[in-house]
Amino acid sequence: MIGRSPRGGSAALWSGLTLCAFALTGLVASTPEQEPPRSSSTHTPVRTADQEPYCPPGSVPHAGTDLRVTDPGVPAAEGMEPTPEEAAEHDERLQGALLHLREEEIAPPWTIPVVFHVISARDGSGRVEDARIHEQVDVLNRAYRGDFAQGSEGTDTGFRFELDEITHTVNDTWFHHFGDHRDTIRPRLRQGGPETLNVYVAALGPGLLGFSTFPQNYAHNPEQDGVAISHEALPGGGLERFDEGHTGTHEIGHWLGLFHTFQNGCQSPGDYVDDTPYERESASGCPVGRNTCPQHPGLDPVTNFMNYSDDACMTHFTPGQAQRMAEHWVAFRDDPRV
Ligand SMILES: [Zn+2]
Repeated sequence: MIGRSPRGGSAALWSGLTLCAFALTGLVASTPEQEPPRSSSTHTPVRTADQEPYCPPGSVPHAGTDLRVTDPGVPAAEGMEPTPEEAAEHDERLQGALLHLREEEIAPPWTIPVVFHVISARDGSGRVEDARIHEQVDVLNRAYRGDFAQGSEGTDTGFRFELDEITHTVNDTWFHHFGDHRDTIRPRLRQGGPETLNVYVAALGPGLLGFSTFPQNYAHNPEQDGVAISHEALPGGGLERFDEGHTGTHEIGHWLGLFHTFQNGCQSPGDYVDDTPYERESASGCPVGRNTCPQHPGLDPVTNFMNYSDDACMTHFTPGQAQRMAEHWVAFRDDPRV
């Protein structure tokens, strides 16, 4: 079962060789799905990949990765506080890239090609029907178009998602220990260039809903680029509070360059977005009237997609976030010079 412990800190950047320290060996898949995948135009034959060694020595250090957990206190998030220095370095690289771009080049809409890689176990655990992948893409399109927003809070980010392919891989080790083997799994499955969104679906570990690389990492680590989502956090995945598809919305926000709304807490420059109020730490559930940085204007952005609130609580990106995603897209993903 997924951890529901009270908040114990905040989470985020994975860097260095930290992942091998997070041995997820205790993980047992819950909610196995017995039904075979439905056939569709995007379905490809099931294949079985070879088993990879557990935490191979000399594995490549992970580039910056950001994640979403059910509650920040879960073990997967411990010790992974994003430092202000790491965030500043990302922003520096963005600003450097933008120097070479003209304003008119940052002009949505853009349609992002998407490839889903569904990894499941031989007993059927994690075998996700294609219909649910289509549903996830539908949630993404609605979220990035602003359909979940209430009143005038949201915005159409200009991003759309088009499903190109679904691959299916049956491998017990890859499914149960994706985090330990991601450095070897992703290069084996990944498709396309910087503009192609590769989404890996597997069991990620107790309390870990998903994680993503940042666009700044692509140039040096193209084969690791992408988003991972727990199969239970897909729409209809059965994970209470987190199975409406917004782990995907959130992680792709990172893939497009966004930080959490609680990045840097109450300290400037926060999440580097002007229209998201400061927030000392992540939100859990769906608190009303929360204000953890009273010295700054505005209540906490509890309903923002880049928080840790429940899926049903998340409603929107802000215009500032949309602009920042657009800048990252042009700087790192849509630029033929990359
Ligand atoms: Zn996150």
